[in-house]
Amino acid sequence: MPAASIPSRLAAGGRRRTQQRVLVAEALASARRALSAQELYERIRSTHPTIGRATVYRALEQQVEDGMASRFEREGHVSAYIACDAEHHHHLVCTSCQRVFDVAEDVVAPMLAAVGRRHDFQVDHAALDFYGLCESCRRRRR
Ligand SMILES: [Zn+2]
Ligand SMILES: [Zn+2]
Repeated sequence: MPAASIPSRLAAGGRRRTQQRVLVAEALASARRALSAQELYERIRSTHPTIGRATVYRALEQQVEDGMASRFEREGHVSAYIACDAEHHHHLVCTSCQRVFDVAEDVVAPMLAAVGRRHDFQVDHAALDFYGLCESCRRRRR
């Protein structure tokens, strides 16, 4: 996601576009891996010491609601976030390096169709994330 588009995407969500919200969105986008709210807060605080923890937490939740970020689970009931395109997709989350990859839609589409047939259920959308180890983390462990 190009950084220049963040302010306009925030505005498109119909929210007041505060400087702090732009700051949080840009910090998340530049991280390129999933971060907990606390980790993102600490990152931002190193350059913007006056930002409040609650501001960062709230801005993250709003980005998820507006389709600009995705939320993942981490061990210990912690949520992690990554900047994300609004269009529909699924993720591979590396639990070691916290990088996040998109799953190819042509892999997921047949699975959703099969679920629909098997259970006679019309699937409108699915939230489907996969957790594990990416290729470079597996190589490092070998
Ligand atoms: Zn994504
Ligand atoms: Zn990894």
